[in-house]
Amino acid sequence: MIFKHDVLIIGGGLAGSRAAIEMAGSGADVAVLTKVYATRSHSCAAQGGISAALGNREEDNWLWHAFDTVKGSDYLGDQDAIEVMCHDAIRTIYELEHMGVPFSRTEEGRIDQRPFGGHTRNFGERAVRRACYAADRTGHVMLHTLVEGCIGRGVRFYHEFQVLDLVFNDGVCCGVVAYEIKTGRLHTFHARAVLLATGGYGKAFRVTSNGMANTGDGFAWPYRHGIPLEDMEFVQFHPTGIHGFGILLSEAARGEGGILRNKDGERFMERYAPTVKDLAPRDMVSRAIRTEIKEGRGFPGEYVVLDLTHLGKDHIESKLPDITSFCRIYMGIDPVEKPVPIHPTAHYAMGGVPTDIDGRVVKDAANTPVPGLWAAGEVACVSVHGANRLGTNSLLDTVVFGRRGGKSIKQTLPGLEWTPLPEDPEATVRDHIARVKAGTGELAAPIRKELGETMMNDCSVYRDEAGLTACVAKVRELRERYRSVRVSDKGDVFNTDLLEAIELGSLIDVAEGIATAALHRTESRGAHSRMDHPDRDDTNWLKHSLVWRDEDRGCRVGDKPVTITRFQPKPRSY
Ligand SMILES: Cc1cc2nc3c(=O)[nH]c(=O)nc-3n(C[C@H](O)[C@H](O)[C@H](O)COP(=O)(O)OP(=O)(O)OC[C@H]3O[C@@H](n4cnc5c(N)ncnc54)[C@H](O)[C@@H]3O)c2cc1C
Repeated sequence: MIFKHDVLIIGGGLAGSRAAIEMAGSGADVAVLTKVYATRSHSCAAQGGISAALGNREEDNWLWHAFDTVKGSDYLGDQDAIEVMCHDAIRTIYELEHMGVPFSRTEEGRIDQRPFGGHTRNFGERAVRRACYAADRTGHVMLHTLVEGCIGRGVRFYHEFQVLDLVFNDGVCCGVVAYEIKTGRLHTFHARAVLLATGGYGKAFRVTSNGMANTGDGFAWPYRHGIPLEDMEFVQFHPTGIHGFGILLSEAARGEGGILRNKDGERFMERYAPTVKDLAPRDMVSRAIRTEIKEGRGFPGEYVVLDLTHLGKDHIESKLPDITSFCRIYMGIDPVEKPVPIHPTAHYAMGGVPTDIDGRVVKDAANTPVPGLWAAGEVACVSVHGANRLGTNSLLDTVVFGRRGGKSIKQTLPGLEWTPLPEDPEATVRDHIARVKAGTGELAAPIRKELGETMMNDCSVYRDEAGLTACVAKVRELRERYRSVRVSDKGDVFNTDLLEAIELGSLIDVAEGIATAALHRTESRGAHSRMDHPDRDDTNWLKHSLVWRDEDRGCRVGDKPVTITRFQPKPRSY
C-alpha cells in the first residue's frame, strides 16, 4: 500500500516528537513512524536532567555553558552550533515548562537545578548547578508531555511500523519503506520531506545502557545511499553502568553527592580531576575507572563502586527513586546501605548523520544539502558534542534541534515539489526479507553476540592499532557470515526474529564505520583514547572525520573542518 504525507518523521522520541509539534497546525500533513510505541522510545529512559543556564540556584550564563560544551567536546564541537544550542536552552526550558513538563522545584517554586559533570561557573572555576530535572525521570516526563502534545495537535502516529529503508529518486529523498510489525506487510510512504530521529546505536556493544530499539537503523540507511557519517569514532562510555548489566545509574547520583571509590575505599577521582573530582566529564571518569581496574585497584570482577551511603535515605529516595529501585531489583543492593558495583557502559553516539544547524542532512565537507532529508537528535551530528558530550546536553540537543529541523521543513515546504517515487521502491527491501527468510547459514543471535564482544574488547574506552585492525577485520568477517543469516520464524505476525536479523545488518554497518574511523584517527581526543597515540594532536587532527561505506573495499575516510568562533583550543584539565 502507498501512504502519502507531506512530512514523515522517523522516530517518536524527543527529537521526533519535538519536530512534529513544530509543524503541527501549520497546514502540513505530518506523520510519525516509530518501531516501538512512541512513549517507549529510549528518550523515556533519560534520568538525570537537561541543561540550561537559568541561574535559578546560583549565578549562571549561557556563555559559560557554551564554553563548558566546547571544552567538554575536546574542542571538536562546532562552536556556531554550540552557541545556538546553549543560547536557546533557556527559552527551550520555559517552553517545555509551559507545555506542561513537571520539573522538580526549589522551595520558592522555581525549576530546580543540580550539578552535572563538566558544567562549571565562570569558565571552569568550579561546578555549577545547571541541570533542570524531574527527580531521575527527566526524559520520561518530557517525552510523555511532547507525545501528548503531538496527539493534541493532530499529528498522525504509525506505532510499530519499522522503517527498513529510505526512498530516493535522482538524489532526492522522497519517502520510506516500512514494515508493519503486526501483519508483516510492506508499505511505501511517499513524502515531500523526511526527518530522521531514530536515536542511537548502543546495541552494537555487548555492555550498553541503551534500549533494545537502539540499533542504529537511521545511521545505516543514508550511509547505504552514499551519504557519509561524521565523527563515528567518538562513542561515549558512561562511567556508571550497573556491574554486569550496563543499566545506567545516572550521573545525577554524583550530582547529588555520590562518590566513586576503588577497592581500597579511595576517592580516586581526586587524583584525576582535582577541581571537579567525581563531576569530571564522562570520558575522563570512564578512563579513570578502567585505569584503576587495570592497575589492580578495582574489585575482583573488574569494577569499582559508587558510594551514596552518606547521602541519607530521604535524599536518595526523593532525588534518585528510579535508580535506587534498579539497584534493589537488579543487584539486590540497597544504595542507602551499601556502595553499588559499577563499570563503564556504552551510552551515546557523538557522531552520526551530518547536518547543518537547521537539521538539513549534508553530504560532504562543503555542507551540500541532501534534498528532502533532515535529521535531529542522537542520530544526527550537528556537531554540538564533538569528541565527548557533557551530561544533560543530549536532551537539550533533541529539543533544540528537533524544533529547528521542524521549523526548517515548515519554511521549505511551500517551495518543495512532490518528487515522484521510483519504480518499485520496495524492491530492495523485499529482496532482503526474502533472502533472510530463505537463509541457511547461522542465526542472527550468535553473530550479534560476537559483534558486541568485538566492539567491547577492541573499540571501547581504550583503543590501539592492533585491536582496531582486528576489530575492522572481524566486523567484515561477520558481514560475510551475515549474508546467509537464517531465521527460525518465517511468519508474518510480530516476527521479531526477522526484524532483529535485519537490525543486525544496521549494527554491522555502523560498527564498521566506528572501527574504521577509530583506526584512522591517530591521536587521543575526548572519548577516543588511543594507547599508541596518547596525546591530542591539534596540528593534524583538529577536524571532523567523514566515513563513506564501500561494501567491497571497506570504508573510505575523509575529513571536514571544525568551526571555531570564540574559544581557541587549549589543553583540557579539570
Ligand atoms: C539510560 C539513559 C539515560 C540518559 N539520560 C540522559 C539525561 O539525563 N540527560 C541527557 O541529556 N541525555 C540522557 N541520555 C541520552 C538521551 O536520552 C538520548 O540521546 C536522547 O533521548 C535520544 O533521543 P532521540 O529522540 O534522538 O532518540 P530516541 O529517544 O532513542 O528515539 C528513537 C525513535 O526512533 C524510532 N526508530 C528507531 N529505528 C526505527 C526504525 N527502523 N523504524 C521506525 N522507527 C524507528 C524508535 O521507535 C524511537 O521512537 C540518556 C540515555 C540513556 C540510554
